[in-house]
Amino acid sequence: MKIKKNDLVKITTGKDLGKEGKVTQILIDENKVVVDGVNKTIKNLKSKNSQDKGRKIEFFAPVDYSNVQVICPSCKKSAKLGYKVENKNKVRVCKKCNAVIN
Ligand SMILES: [Zn+2]
Repeated sequence: MKIKKNDLVKITTGKDLGKEGKVTQILIDENKVVVDGVNKTIKNLKSKNSQDKGRKIEFFAPVDYSNVQVICPSCKKSAKLGYKVENKNKVRVCKKCNAVIN
């Protein structure tokens, strides 16, 4: 997966199309990422007794890795990323402006 935690990403499909946010969590096994402010989901927690009416919790549900694109910090555009080897380290590069992204 080319996306890393704290990357700024843009949503490329679905109800949050065009939204931007920071990646807060990466779920490698599911190929999903959690993006701050994106895919807000409300879950109703059932009440446990008659005094408790239950409550709602809001959280940001994971989105598919293929539905987000990293925003390049250099050219500020959402771009596909590639890899190149620099000083024997594999680094990510923006395919639009060729800047190295860390
Ligand atoms: Zn770029």
